[in-house]
Amino acid sequence: MSSPIDLDGRRGLVIGIANEHSIAFGCAQAFVDAGARLALTWLNDKAEPHVRPLGEALGADLMLACDVSVPGQLEAVFEQVARTWGRLDFVLHSIAFAPRDDLHAPLIDSSAEGFALAMDVSCHSFIRAARLALPLMSDGGALMTVSYYGAEHVVDHYNLMGPVKAALEASVRSLAVELAPRRVHVHALSAGPVNTRAASGIAHFDELIDSVRARTPGHQLTDLPAIGRIAAFLASDAGAPLTGSVTFADNGFHITA
Ligand code: NAD
Repeated sequence: MSSPIDLDGRRGLVIGIANEHSIAFGCAQAFVDAGARLALTWLNDKAEPHVRPLGEALGADLMLACDVSVPGQLEAVFEQVARTWGRLDFVLHSIAFAPRDDLHAPLIDSSAEGFALAMDVSCHSFIRAARLALPLMSDGGALMTVSYYGAEHVVDHYNLMGPVKAALEASVRSLAVELAPRRVHVHALSAGPVNTRAASGIAHFDELIDSVRARTPGHQLTDLPAIGRIAAFLASDAGAPLTGSVTFADNGFHITA
């Protein structure tokens, strides 16, 4: 489908592609369809063979390793972006992690270490990315992260990721206020459930999908191209007035009781 969104000449960094099922890949495809040039990252050597061909298909200008929990790697990505482009128009942060035992335990049993690691990778890395992006966004820009309904409501088996996503959404609001004078807009894109590798780590995810489909108006789940088009809209100038908001790409699930 040709894109109604214009990102022609825009340059964006996409963090979070693991494979073709990743939400970040759906977004990357929509950014390219709208005319953007991309830099993208993979987690480590093991991930590279899965991500590199996708980056090549997207015509990415830059492909780099980035594990945000390894000191210096996120900084190195932004240094390379600065050397290659000298500027940046948008960043998509589409990553989350929690140790398996903590993710599968009730919140009350989450460990301090597991909670801290989940917060660092899934939330504080977005704040660090914002800080590093800012000097490259002298003409303004957009910072986007991917959240979930479990930030606002208790969802079975989402466990410690609920409070972590709540912190992420609160961070979006604070950053939106702090960065408004720099004309940088900040967005949380709250996606409906999609079968991805990260999602497969959530217990009983198939049951969640079934119950969400049943409660969604129209009984249709959202998909990667639809989520991607919302991300492309948020990355564009047209998305700027939504700064600080959580924008749902869930076919209306979140409005149901
Ligand atoms: P995914 O497994 O395709 O992507 C998760 C990404 O996180 C992977 O690319 C992985 O490499 C990356 N990651 C994990 N630890 C990292 C680290 N230390 N450094 C750098 N990258 C790291 O799964 P996804 O579902 O596309 O997840 C993307 C985002 O979407 C996550 O924030 C997730 O919480 C969110 N989300 C997913 C759903 C869903 O149903 N799949 C719904 C709403 C929100």
